[in-house]
Amino acid sequence: MIRVLIWNEYQHEKTDERVRAVYPDGIHKALADFLGDEEIVVSTATLDDPNCGITAERLAETDVLIWWGHMAHQKVPDEVAFLVRDAVLSGMGAVFLHSAHHSKPFRYLMGTSCNLTWRETGDSELLWVIEPSHPIVAGIDRVIKLEAEETYGEPFVIPTPDKLLFIGRFSGGEVLRAGCLYERGNGKIFYFQPGHETFPTYYNKDVQTVIRNAVRFVAPTYRQMTGCPHVRFITDEEPYVL
Ligand code: ZN
Repeated sequence: MIRVLIWNEYQHEKTDERVRAVYPDGIHKALADFLGDEEIVVSTATLDDPNCGITAERLAETDVLIWWGHMAHQKVPDEVAFLVRDAVLSGMGAVFLHSAHHSKPFRYLMGTSCNLTWRETGDSELLWVIEPSHPIVAGIDRVIKLEAEETYGEPFVIPTPDKLLFIGRFSGGEVLRAGCLYERGNGKIFYFQPGHETFPTYYNKDVQTVIRNAVRFVAPTYRQMTGCPHVRFITDEEPYVL
């Protein structure tokens, strides 16, 4: 069983009719609807929940955190972002979607600005698979086609990914490293670019497949906050102890 916590800012859906038309119950509900199955148990949290719905205890009971945010990144307290960062470093998996590239937890984990170029003109997008053998792209052919997405372009100010799984190519000409896999501490992190709030991207079967695969891939196999212990010299008489 994989315990997934879907965190959605859940602001656009309350204030913008165009977004409500696509995601009437929120992006978190759309994600939960396709992710939940006999193997994946889903719960959700939003910005307006007490403490953003995030506590150390809740994260300790979370195998994989999915994060979607856009207009209110700065309303997430640093203390909450640090809880997420530390949970990932200790082994919790994390999937950051679309504009979560600018979320505090992602930026704190990456250590860079995570800036990119962007434009909302309804370009179509081709998401090209870079590593067809990787488990996260299982079930995808060579390319995912999206009729409309927000254009994101390089330079995307991220550390070089440990694995680059997708390059997005927009009809306006821009390209973006759109599927990026990282390890930080004991945790695995996947950034996946599709998912602008006014387009029905999270109903796309291929996008759903990638997110489902990513949840399984980043789920922890080992979980422990790494310390920095002072240890004694190892001798036959004094076996190694932390
Ligand atoms: Zn967007």
